Amino acid sequence: MTRTLLGVWAHPDDETFLSSGLILAARERGDRVVLVTATRGEHGTDDPGRWPPGRLGRLRERELEAALAVLGVDEHRFLGYGDGSCAHAAEPLAARAIATVIEEVRPDTIVTFGPDGVTGHDDHRAVGRWTTRARHRVAPQVELLRAVLAPGFTRRFAAVNEAFGVFMDDPADDVDPGLHLRLEGAQLDRKIEAMLAQDSQTRRLVDGVGLATFRRWWGEEAFLVDRPVAASAAAAV
Ligand SMILES: [Zn+2]
Repeated sequence: MTRTLLGVWAHPDDETFLSSGLILAARERGDRVVLVTATRGEHGTDDPGRWPPGRLGRLRERELEAALAVLGVDEHRFLGYGDGSCAHAAEPLAARAIATVIEEVRPDTIVTFGPDGVTGHDDHRAVGRWTTRARHRVAPQVELLRAVLAPGFTRRFAAVNEAFGVFMDDPADDVDPGLHLRLEGAQLDRKIEAMLAQDSQTRRLVDGVGLATFRRWWGEEAFLVDRPVAASAAAAV
């Protein structure tokens, strides 16, 4: 039976960094994958003079399309929030928008950010909260995966994490993920290809650490697993 995976993320590239392995495995099984991105990531640059928001947003939309083509995903939609604005948005409305997608798509599994947003980014934390709330309200019977860092990530990649400032807080990698993927071979090749398709976000990282380290850096994915809750039990909460 075909299953459906729904991913809900904050910026173009979050889906690729954090869930390519999950997506590729789903597509290899013939499952449906639908992705939602809250913003166009239009402020994701160190050079806003050269890349004003409108221009960068359009570029990131094209880069995302290219990455999703590599991952075999052809169903995607934006929620239309401004990059950097998610923590200030009305949470009930945002959760409602996601709940509407859940009701339409009827996923078997939902994937989003864990509580610390993985990198500590406020948009990530907000989208994780919205999605968790939406799932609790309209689909508690659906499995929820919440992305976290793989065990040992902080220790193994302390030098590169520090050098590139990807993480806003000290990243937490001390939770025991219920699901831990180690990508290798063709699957890791595809993930890296999808990451490289989002050149505006990954170029400086790849150039900085070299491709071999970059592959190890992002070669694992980990998720907290919130098991389905029977609808009657959820209603009692
Ligand atoms: Zn992001």
